[in-house]
Amino acid sequence: MRIKAAVAHGPGKPFTLEEVDLDTPRDDEILVKLVATGLCHTDIVLRDAALPLPAVLGHEGAGIVEAVGSAVTKVAPGDHVVLSYGSCGACPSCDNEAPFYCHSFIPQNIGGFRPDGTPTITQNGQPLFAHFFTQSSFATHALATEVNTVKVRKDAPLELLGPLGCGIQTGAGSVMNGLEPLPDEAITIFGVGSVGLAAIMAAKLIGCRPIIAVDLMDSRLDIAKDMGATHVINPGSSDVVAEIQGITGAGALYALECTGSAAVFKQAVDCLAPRGTLGQVGVPAPGAEAAVDMGALLNKGLRLVGMIEGEAIVDDFIPHLLDLYMDGLFPFDKLVSFYDLDDINQADVDNANGKIVKAVLRMPLD
Ligand SMILES: [Zn+2]
Ligand SMILES: [Zn+2]
Repeated sequence: MRIKAAVAHGPGKPFTLEEVDLDTPRDDEILVKLVATGLCHTDIVLRDAALPLPAVLGHEGAGIVEAVGSAVTKVAPGDHVVLSYGSCGACPSCDNEAPFYCHSFIPQNIGGFRPDGTPTITQNGQPLFAHFFTQSSFATHALATEVNTVKVRKDAPLELLGPLGCGIQTGAGSVMNGLEPLPDEAITIFGVGSVGLAAIMAAKLIGCRPIIAVDLMDSRLDIAKDMGATHVINPGSSDVVAEIQGITGAGALYALECTGSAAVFKQAVDCLAPRGTLGQVGVPAPGAEAAVDMGALLNKGLRLVGMIEGEAIVDDFIPHLLDLYMDGLFPFDKLVSFYDLDDINQADVDNANGKIVKAVLRMPLD
């Protein structure tokens, strides 16, 4: 079918809204008419990577099921859904309820094509790089599968919900499923974009104290305070390690690194208390390496752990976060600014400048 998509044409080049062709759903596929999609940092990282073909990215889709393949039983036309990440369902991680560490996570999510190599989106008969996170949601319609399609309650504002599929789930889940701090334990969040702010909301829900936010943008530190941070530090004007020791005494028992910077990673390790745990969430540049004080690692019994997609089982966690939102306990809507899909390039600029925290792109009406 003919659909509209924001097509990426290479590093630094603007997205352009174009007509493309979406394949018909196979037996195991779900056709979703998208209402809106979040814009995630990973989309921009991939746009700026040297992809082999023009690409349809986007991986925080929310919409309404339009049609399902003959083998699909999980959802039916008319259901409201949020789309999340793909996994194979058959590897040792998937078998052990850890699909976020699927052995084929990369080909499933950023391979560009279905696992059998066929394209989901073409243009003038030529394949595009798509099937992104088993969706490619910068488009009016997407093909997903049961694995990454999550049915959500119909009384929720569907156009808001896409970020639950990646960014918001990543921040909140890294605290709630990954670090699992207890009430009154100290946590520091390094980098408070949408992921870090979702982590702060989760830490507040748990009752962590203190909750320390670290970021170079004062505007984001102000939002962090609104979301539950008890202390904020701008490393541009203060010594982060000394400040955190001043607040906590021995250091924080938990830290979440949301920037992907090797220098920040080292700082986050240096701020940990004995028996402290660092969760690495920020996506680093390809090949990035970070230095660690091996003596401190040993003597303090530190744990340094990577965390993908908030270690979330999406069918449980996304409806849980949504229930918390509907009960007024997880106000992630305060982080969202809406744009039309046509204005995706402006959304990218505003996000990079810190003018907004999280862009959600609305699809054009028919
Ligand atoms: Zn797997
Ligand atoms: Zn993402």
